[in-house]
Amino acid sequence: MNSQIKQFPGAGHSAGPRKLAAAGLKTVLDSIYPPALYCSICGNLIDGSRTYHLCDNCVRHIRWDTDPPAVIPMHSKNIRLLRVCTYGVYERSLIFSLKYQDRRELAKDIAEMMRDRLEYEGFGKGSFDYIVPIPLSKEKEKTRGFNQTVLMGKYLAKMTGAELLPHALLRVKDTRPMRGLSPRERQENIEGAFAPGLTAWKLAGKRVLLIDDFATTLATGNEAVRMLLEASPSDITFMVFAARWDDAVRSAAAGSRNAFCHDGYIPEEK
Ligand SMILES: [Zn+2]
Repeated sequence: MNSQIKQFPGAGHSAGPRKLAAAGLKTVLDSIYPPALYCSICGNLIDGSRTYHLCDNCVRHIRWDTDPPAVIPMHSKNIRLLRVCTYGVYERSLIFSLKYQDRRELAKDIAEMMRDRLEYEGFGKGSFDYIVPIPLSKEKEKTRGFNQTVLMGKYLAKMTGAELLPHALLRVKDTRPMRGLSPRERQENIEGAFAPGLTAWKLAGKRVLLIDDFATTLATGNEAVRMLLEASPSDITFMVFAARWDDAVRSAAAGSRNAFCHDGYIPEEK
């Protein structure tokens, strides 16, 4: 429902016309459809003032999360979990376009959704001191040419007044996809994946917003939090754009040791 998105206080924000990557193409398209742009998910024509550059149909299909943040213990510290939406085919389409089709401009739209979600929960400007993105391995970042979560973080930092610390956390081990791994294998896969980076010391006593693009388990977040806690921040909020972590959250709240290895639902191809 449209009304769901309107519940985000910033849902009415208009980002203005999106800069298409190919300026030449834009000129040609503008001459054919002067006021029109394209929905970032389905490609349907939309008018340039649409929130997040999405058509009404896609906005209706995104499963916006308006529940209060979950608070669960990780390594003896209470960590706040927040997501913009549940991870499904529409949400994944946005992330995949950003990651695999090099549509970096989508990072700004996603950051706006995250900002609006934060504001909806009362985390306005100045609520966090630092934003720490989950890092990619050096090899993966080199192949892709960018880390999509760092891009999202750059925009989110400007919108929230927090400082982006892309090197507070380092990825020191590449990991296999979690899908199909047993809980024990998941744990082994992610263990030791991160190390505190050169700027981690800045986090002491500070309010940290740890961000990622999506999550289907809590394994990555849990391991990243373990490393960040070595720097003694005052509190950590782990926020992802899209997550399927419901079972893991329930399990963690009930104190299960395997909570962080739960298998999240992976949506089928559209
Ligand atoms: Zn659409």
